[in-house]
Amino acid sequence: MLYETRVCVIMIKTKKSQNSNFTCENCGRDVLRLVRESFRNHCPFCLYSKHVDDEPGDRASTCHGLMAPIGAKISAKGQQILHKCENCGFTRYNIFCDDDPNQSDDYELFLRLL
Ligand SMILES: [Zn+2]
Ligand SMILES: [Zn+2]
Repeated sequence: MLYETRVCVIMIKTKKSQNSNFTCENCGRDVLRLVRESFRNHCPFCLYSKHVDDEPGDRASTCHGLMAPIGAKISAKGQQILHKCENCGFTRYNIFCDDDPNQSDDYELFLRLL
């Protein structure tokens, strides 16, 4: 629990720089930045992410491997996707985004991961 609290604080500090458009390296679709406050760190269509952080938002990782969605859970923090790096095996939970008016995460895919 202590670890999760610390991660939240880092995310709030750095979300501005992370909230930008990108092209998904797994499915090739253009991903728009989120309209609301939160930042986007994975593709809403295939739910893939990329290993660029050692800690959320720090951009310190030199791995840059694709992170596949391998699981999901629903907790007090909401819906979360478990990502695993296909390059180095690093895993992390990321918040599922279901309230973006342009591109919400694919809920069908999320349900299959549960
Ligand atoms: Zn994608
Ligand atoms: Zn990695």
